Amino acid sequence: CGIVAYVGSRQAHEVIIKGLKRLEYRGYDSAGIALHNNGLNVYKKKGRVVDLEKTLSEEDLNSHIGIGHTRWATHGEPNDTNAHPHYSRSKNLAIIHNGIIENYSVLKQELVKKGHEFLSETDSEVFIHFIEDIQINNNCSLEEAVRLALTKVVGAYAIVIMSQDNPNMLIAARKGSPLVIGVGKDEFFLASDATPIIEYTNEVVYLNDYEIAIIDNNELKLKNTQDVPSTPYIQTLDMEL
Ligand code: GLU
Repeated sequence: CGIVAYVGSRQAHEVIIKGLKRLEYRGYDSAGIALHNNGLNVYKKKGRVVDLEKTLSEEDLNSHIGIGHTRWATHGEPNDTNAHPHYSRSKNLAIIHNGIIENYSVLKQELVKKGHEFLSETDSEVFIHFIEDIQINNNCSLEEAVRLALTKVVGAYAIVIMSQDNPNMLIAARKGSPLVIGVGKDEFFLASDATPIIEYTNEVVYLNDYEIAIIDNNELKLKNTQDVPSTPYIQTLDMEL
C-alpha cells in the first residue's frame, strides 16, 4: 500500500524505513525492504515497520540502493512470505507492487507449466516472475522486459524493481496507483506520495499512467508502455513537513 525506494549516496535503509513510517497513515499489515548488500537481499515481516526494524538490527545494511513496501493484502493473507519485496525465480530481481494484477492466475498457470515455483500467494510475485520470463525468452534488457510485461498485465500497479546485476538502477512504472519521483543531486527517491521525499528535495516528477521510469547511473529516463520516450517534467513543490 506504500512504496519507498532510493538510489544515491545515502544509506538506503535509513531513507526507506523513515519513509515507510511517513506512509503509515495509508494503512498496512506487513512491511519489507530489499537492499544491495553483498548481493540482492530481501527482509520482510508481518506487522508494523518497527517489527521489520527489529529483524534488521543484526544485519549489515550497508547499501546505496533499495526498495521498501508496506502491504495491504489483496491476494494471500498477511504473513511474512506474502509480504513484499518478492523475488524473481533466479533471485536476480526484486519487486515492490501496490495494486492488483487481475489476470495473475492465467499468467501464473503458464509460468507453473514452465517450471516456475511460487513461494507466496500474491499476484505481485507472479508479476516479477513474468518479467523475468519475458527477459529470458526475448533475450532483451530488463527495461524492455518490464515494458513488454506491462502491455500484457491487466489491473492496477505502482511498481519498483531492482536487480542484482545493476546496483545503480531502479525501474518504476504506474497505472492507477500513485508514484512520485524525487530528483536530488545525484540521488533519486520514489514514493507513493511526496511525504517521504520532501525532507530531501522539493523537485519531483509525478509519474503518469502507463509511464515507465528508468533510473540508471544518475540519470532519469521516461517512456510509456508503447515505447515512446518523454522528457521528465520536474515540478518544484512548495511543501513543509
Ligand atoms: N496485490 C498485492 C498483494 O496482495 C499488493 C497489495 C498492496 O497494494 O499493498 O500483495
